[in-house]
Amino acid sequence: MDVEDRDSIDTVKLKKELTNAIGEAKGYIHNAYREFCIQQPDLIVAVQEGHIQGNRTILKEMSGRLETIFEDYMRSISSGSISQKDAKKSVQFRDQGNKNYQAKHFYSALDCYTKAICQGPIGSETLALALANRSAVMFHLKEFQHCIQDLDLAIASDYPKKTLFKLYERKIKCLTQLGNLNLAQTTLNQFSKALDFAVLEPSKKQKMFSELEKTISKIKAKPQEDSTFKSLADELPKLNSRNDKFPSFAKCLSVEYNAKRGRHVVANRDIKAGEMVMVELPTVVVVRDEFKSLFCSNCLRKSYGSIPSPLNSVEVFCSHFCLEQGLNSFHRCESKILEHIQHSGLGKAEWRLAIRAVTQKPLEYFRKNQDKFQNHSSRFGMNEGDQYGADEYQALFHLVVNRQAWNLSTDLFKAFVACFYTRCLHLGGYFDDEENDDNGVNGGWTGTLSDDQLFITEFMVHIMEASTMNSHEISHVTAPTNVPWFHGQPRRVGPVLNIYGSLLNHSCDPNIFWINRGKAIISFASKDIKMDDEVTNCYITESLKIPMEQRQIQLKNFYNFTCGCVACDERWPPMAQFPTALADLKAKQLKIPVEDVNRMKAQLAKINQLGVKINLEQKKENYKDCLALCIEFLQLLDHTIKRPHQFFEMTTRTMFMSLWTLRGSKSRIDQT
Ligand SMILES: [Zn+2]
Ligand SMILES: [Zn+2]
Repeated sequence: MDVEDRDSIDTVKLKKELTNAIGEAKGYIHNAYREFCIQQPDLIVAVQEGHIQGNRTILKEMSGRLETIFEDYMRSISSGSISQKDAKKSVQFRDQGNKNYQAKHFYSALDCYTKAICQGPIGSETLALALANRSAVMFHLKEFQHCIQDLDLAIASDYPKKTLFKLYERKIKCLTQLGNLNLAQTTLNQFSKALDFAVLEPSKKQKMFSELEKTISKIKAKPQEDSTFKSLADELPKLNSRNDKFPSFAKCLSVEYNAKRGRHVVANRDIKAGEMVMVELPTVVVVRDEFKSLFCSNCLRKSYGSIPSPLNSVEVFCSHFCLEQGLNSFHRCESKILEHIQHSGLGKAEWRLAIRAVTQKPLEYFRKNQDKFQNHSSRFGMNEGDQYGADEYQALFHLVVNRQAWNLSTDLFKAFVACFYTRCLHLGGYFDDEENDDNGVNGGWTGTLSDDQLFITEFMVHIMEASTMNSHEISHVTAPTNVPWFHGQPRRVGPVLNIYGSLLNHSCDPNIFWINRGKAIISFASKDIKMDDEVTNCYITESLKIPMEQRQIQLKNFYNFTCGCVACDERWPPMAQFPTALADLKAKQLKIPVEDVNRMKAQLAKINQLGVKINLEQKKENYKDCLALCIEFLQLLDHTIKRPHQFFEMTTRTMFMSLWTLRGSKSRIDQT
């Protein structure tokens, strides 16, 4: 074969391979990758022909050829285009908030004011005005603690002196509602001083003062609750007893291993429907870009009184507790590279988990613990001496990865993205210390990865692989003020990596379900589970609605296994074709012999009665009773008919929504 021939073949191959990995995507990172591949065909060929194998070798080869490849981009992104606070934008958001407030769209007003607060320069009048306006909404919504927090922040910012008395007045009204007599009295003094700056007739001032004084004199002092907002961990339900080795699981769950099922979870006693079996705080979380100003970057909670990041103009924290955690881990570095990452055009939120997995630990941690991240084993935790949760990162590293699902093109692209992330981390100062003097060319970036950088890049590639297989989506339910929670809509807030829940295998007809509170995952048995039965979760949403052949393909492509669950094994039709009434049932679906007519009749009558009761409680939004009745109903169904039947699915859904309403993350939106 002469040179020309070989070239033309490679170009065709190359084009095809590239298209596979990134399709038509047109972001910076995709174009840069195309360009890189065109410039480095020999690298592609070498990987394709197997001369270069394994992430580390690919990364080494690649990094030797990166040199200045990201430099133009890094320079072209003006640092601060997203992250810098912008008073003008703050005013725009505040105006939108005011319009919503006047139209009595209080929840939309709240979101607008929060965005205005994020954009308000620290210590500025603009920030103070946005905070003061949000406090007015909070007062209206009777969120007095949050209202006071905003008022204090507004007062500490540069709120106009002439109207400052109004903020103290609002604060006194909140304290009156909360029965906080002492603080109300102190605040009255501050109010009095603030009145000096007010442009009002002295008689008017005197009148206002005496009115407030009178209000305070009527306060019935109540014992004050701790006003610091609870950390997420503090507000989670507690398991009755925990599995010693896998403490996010209840004691009734055991983790076992066999070659066919891998690590998997088994019930070590009978478990009743509705029992709580897992409470887990994920190890790595990311908020999707569109929700950054609404959900806490650290714990994914939505707080009415969210605190703006002091370092950028888009992120919020639910509390000072989370802000501090963020500042002490990921937030400083990530704020410096926010726009570089966002403008890169790479939408995969689950790959961002790789960056967070790095930024929330100092470089020192990885240097010290390199040996924990060698020799990947999907049996980790099963051998004697393995401490599964002792270092969550070690367990994270040993999550199942499906190497077969990655081919040449995805491998290369993933490595390229990881190198890009490392370049961003470098810009964010992640590698800055004595050992990495940062004064070289291009701010110390030579293109060739240092040992530290190579290690971190390889770690990120690994997390990207693990995320593809193991990341889970955190949801938050919203419902308009005139709609029962039961009909709320889930929003996908962001992906997480969690080391315990990821041990559960899939079933299209699982026996547990998950709800979310902030980033936490709380899991309940969705049906009675017999001792020694495997405990399963469902990897695809509404799996039973999808025809079996289709979901089997999805599972094979994405997770590389053929599902052998009961629904697949018995070839259940899609849910729309499940029987919908008791009259539709065929004899073989009944658990009571047909001859036993009377018993059957009695049982069916009970089912009907209980069904009516559930509907009633649901209409009354009495979720606690609804839940208890559902559990009873499921048992009754299980004694009478075989799955599949719509009744099972409807009951599970009612249970799920009841539990979500009682314990999950939810918030109101305005009536539409
Ligand atoms: Zn938080
Ligand atoms: Zn299945």
